[in-house]
Amino acid sequence: MSDDRRVLVVEDEANIRDLIETALRFHGFQTVAARTGAEALRAVRPPAGDRRPDLILLDVLLPDIDGFEVCRRLRAAGDDTPVIFLTARDTPSDTVTGLTLGGDDYVTKPFSIDALVARIRAVLRRAAPAATAPPPAEDGQVLRVADLELDEAHWTVRRAGVEVELSPTEFRLLAYLMRNPGRVLTRAQLLENVWGWGRDGNPQVVETYISYLRRKLDPLGPPLIHTRRGVGYALRP
Ligand code: CA
Repeated sequence: MSDDRRVLVVEDEANIRDLIETALRFHGFQTVAARTGAEALRAVRPPAGDRRPDLILLDVLLPDIDGFEVCRRLRAAGDDTPVIFLTARDTPSDTVTGLTLGGDDYVTKPFSIDALVARIRAVLRRAAPAATAPPPAEDGQVLRVADLELDEAHWTVRRAGVEVELSPTEFRLLAYLMRNPGRVLTRAQLLENVWGWGRDGNPQVVETYISYLRRKLDPLGPPLIHTRRGVGYALRP
């Protein structure tokens, strides 16, 4: 991937901010910096003619509004710019809070620059529109299971003919389930294939997103996502 991508670095501690910016530039990224949540929200919508960031590195502890709130406001405004949280705390509840608010990943301080850059590249790859993503064999396919229809090229989902609005993560999760109809997929498989995480991923994130999908799909027909207790999930009529 060419890395002229623009990363918005939101961090109030100058030395950490400088360190991250220097390292990212060394790795070929462009950077913009913000010191507060308010500055971050402004930087995401720059004046006309200025480029928007491709990704936001968002510190959780900021002097004004915290990083979670910044992300919540962005998503509420329909902004899907990928977010990686920088968190000093690695408690499951914090990481799940961040991810369920629409964050794409998190990195716990202190982190290594290599790990950070790897996470940034992984999130940018996942966020790439279907057309520029590495083409899977079924690129652009319309997946169908029962009355559920997912169009990978147009990023649309319908159930019984009714369009269902999904976030990018919900969409990827549903697409993966639909590519493996009837198969029980473990939480680890889902974390790896949908989130791009290895064994360090938090399985609670999968449970949370499955519940989001059910909340959106179940009102339109009989349940399609089935839990195999202690194992994982399967999508079938
Ligand atoms: Ca901070």
